[in-house]
Amino acid sequence: MILFFFGLSAGVVARIRGSSFLLWFLIGFCLPGLGTLAALLYPGDRDELRRRCENCGTVVKLHDQVCMHCGEDLEFPDHALEPRASH
Ligand SMILES: [Zn+2]
Repeated sequence: MILFFFGLSAGVVARIRGSSFLLWFLIGFCLPGLGTLAALLYPGDRDELRRRCENCGTVVKLHDQVCMHCGEDLEFPDHALEPRASH
């Protein structure tokens, strides 16, 4: 039962970061704790959540606080752009 939650946590983390839920669920299940940690540290830069600058429309990383294009201060958005839906 505990293994299930380890797998679930790894899967959820991976899903948020745009990776495969099922793949990371299995990794977290087989490697409890380590799998979750790996999902957290997994470099998923190209799948990172993004949002659009309301001032100029440039797509920037979700955690950027200032627009790289126009210098607009960005509030943390109500919703992020899904990486897979952006193209
Ligand atoms: Zn901007």
